[in-house]
Parts: sequence; C-alpha cells; structure tokens
Amino acid sequence: MHTDQIFFHLGEGEPNDHLPASPAIYQTSNFTFRTVKDMATSLQHEDKIPFYTRGANPTTAILQQKLAALEGTDESLVFGSGSAAITAAVVSQVKSGDHVVCVESPYSWTKKLFNNILSRFGVTCTYVKASNSQGLIDACKENTVLIYMESPNSWTYEMQDIELVTQYAKAKNIKTILDNSCASPLYQQPAKYGVDIIVHSATKYLSGHSDMVAGVLCTSSKIYQQIFQGEYMTFGAILSPIEAWMMIRSLRTLEMRMERVTKNALAVAKYLENHPKIESLIFTHSESFEQPELRNKYLKAAGGLMTIDLTTKDFQSIEKFCNALQRFKLGCSWGGYESLAFPAVTTMSSLNYDKPDTLLNRIRLYVGTENHELLIEDLKNALNSI
Ligand code: PLP
Repeated sequence: MHTDQIFFHLGEGEPNDHLPASPAIYQTSNFTFRTVKDMATSLQHEDKIPFYTRGANPTTAILQQKLAALEGTDESLVFGSGSAAITAAVVSQVKSGDHVVCVESPYSWTKKLFNNILSRFGVTCTYVKASNSQGLIDACKENTVLIYMESPNSWTYEMQDIELVTQYAKAKNIKTILDNSCASPLYQQPAKYGVDIIVHSATKYLSGHSDMVAGVLCTSSKIYQQIFQGEYMTFGAILSPIEAWMMIRSLRTLEMRMERVTKNALAVAKYLENHPKIESLIFTHSESFEQPELRNKYLKAAGGLMTIDLTTKDFQSIEKFCNALQRFKLGCSWGGYESLAFPAVTTMSSLNYDKPDTLLNRIRLYVGTENHELLIEDLKNALNSI
C-alpha cells in the first residue's frame, strides 16, 4: 500500500455530511447502546466495537490501522508510552522459570524491566553484545522463550541480523521482539524478516513534535488477541483519544520530516567525521560504520541519530563544548523538530569519572529539522570553544 494512502486515508472511513478533512476525536470514556443485544455484541468484540475506551475507541482505531499498515503487520496496539508497549509485549511472552536473551544495552528502562522487575517473578535474562547475532542464538537454552532485539541499538547503533535470528527462533518456537524506534517503520520493517512483535517509542519520530509520550506494538492477529485480552486491558496503559488524534496528524508529515532529518544528519555527520576534535563518530550511514552489510540489507535511510566521542577526555572541556551549543539543546529523547545533545556524563556518577573505561567524552546527537548549515555552524562554534 502506498504510504500516502496510509497517512491520508486509511482507517478514516466515509466522511459524514460535513466532509471534515480531519477525523473526529472521540474523547469519551464510555459508549452507550440502544439495545441489550447491541451492548452484548460490543462486549463480545471489545477490541473492535467500542464499549469502553480502555479497550477500543474509534479515534485510536484509525491510528492503530495506520501503524499496523506501516509496519506490515495484521494489527497494532497503542500505549501511553514506549515503555508501556515494551512491558506489555515482553510480559505477554514470559512466565516464571523462563529465560530471555536480550541485546546487551537496550534502552535503559527495558533493561530495568528484565533486571529489576521480571527477575522478581523468576524470569532470567542473558545479555549478548548487540552486534553478535550468532551470540544471541548461542545464548539460547532449553527454557528460552524470547529473544529481545533493538536494531539499531540505543546510543551505539549496532544492528542484528534479524533474519538469521528469527529463522533460528521460529525453528525453536522462541518468540522475537524488536525495538524499531531508531529506524522508524518507514526505514525498517522487521515483520518482513519474521519478527513476532515490533515495538516503538512513538514519542520519537511517529509523534515527532516533542509534545506527547506514546508507544506502539505491531504484531500478528493471534498475538494481538492474546495481548489485547491480557496485558493491554489489564495494565490499562492506553493512549488517550486526543493523543491518538495528535499522532494521526503527525503521521501526515512523517515522510517529509524523516527525509529532512536524514538529509541534515548526513550533512552533519560529514562535517564531524574527520574533525580533529572528534575521536570517533558512530552513525549508521557513515563510511566508518562497522556493519555496512546489515545496514544495506535492513535500513532504507539514516534518520537523525548519531553519537560522537570527543578527542578530549577532560571533564571541563566536555562540559564547555556542551554548554556552548546554542541550537542543539541539551536533552534526552529525539525524533522531534529540535536538535539535541545528550552528554553521557550526565548519566554517570562523578566517582567514575577517572576510571579508564568511562566514556566521559561520549555525546549522543539528534539532528532535527532545522537547516543543516545552521546546525553545523553551531557545532563548529562549540568545537572551537575547546
Ligand atoms: N526504546 C527506545 C530505543 C528509547 O529510546 C525509548 C525512550 O527514549 C524507549 C524505548 C521508551 O519510550 P518512551 O519514552 O516513549 O516510554
């Protein structure tokens, strides 16, 4: 299906008499019925016939159709955050005594889900370097039920050979989940390669304006039914209808925002790649990227994330560089219009600053939609200041 069909029409039905260009926001918790029969029918099909907004809602349903079509899955479910989507997806697949294999450094709260929460319920987890796809396979045991991937991975963008992992997993009846936030469904579609559940922080590119927090999981009809009847309805971490409407609006511009961000990121990466004050640049579409085959196989384009290691290891200089940035704001997250710098040092205890393996000089950059020449000028000024 053409992406414009998804963004501009899919799920929106026939216009009513007023021919609105934008769909209605059903900002209601409850739905009422004319007859007992109608009410009973709705309750029997609570995921599709609106009964109560913790289940189905007509505005949310439009968004869910669009997101499933974008990822190429049967269904999707949207949540109040990416972490909520990840938690629902993971919890739906594990029980006490099960083992999970996960990439070594997934998004921090995903790791806490495995280490701090699921460990309390008897679920164990083995971590494997995110670039070692065979290692993910080799770490599987008799009781492994799930392989959790994040490709490209947070901060360092290691990729997994998705097809290799899913072929093994399917043969062993192991489920796979992949966090696709970094690539977006426009630039990578893991379902094509057999991933069972794809999750996103929809806070990022899908919402795209840094004004809401949201998540989505995309999957088959079978797993969707299981999650809808279980974690979705029970945890109740839904997206409100008004925010579903906001994301529908954001999707209209997803393609052009992604194109702009990618164009900007390529220009910024080119400027930074051989700069004497930059020790290394990690960017999926730079010449030095360590997994070009996987990039060429799975990623259609770059998006706006990259990570730099400054040549200096001196805390004061690192701080000076970051504070000198004017257009890049200091902040976490990404995917909006604004460019961001996230210094790794903000996540560390000062007690570790002098340890040899501390990456004090590491900074994640998100290149937003602002003109790339202005962004390069900003980086140039900040680099000149140290
Ligand atoms: N996955 C990745 C790769 C992320 O970077 C984040 C948040 O930064 C999440 C998941 C969690 O998403 P949210 O912040 O929407 O809960």
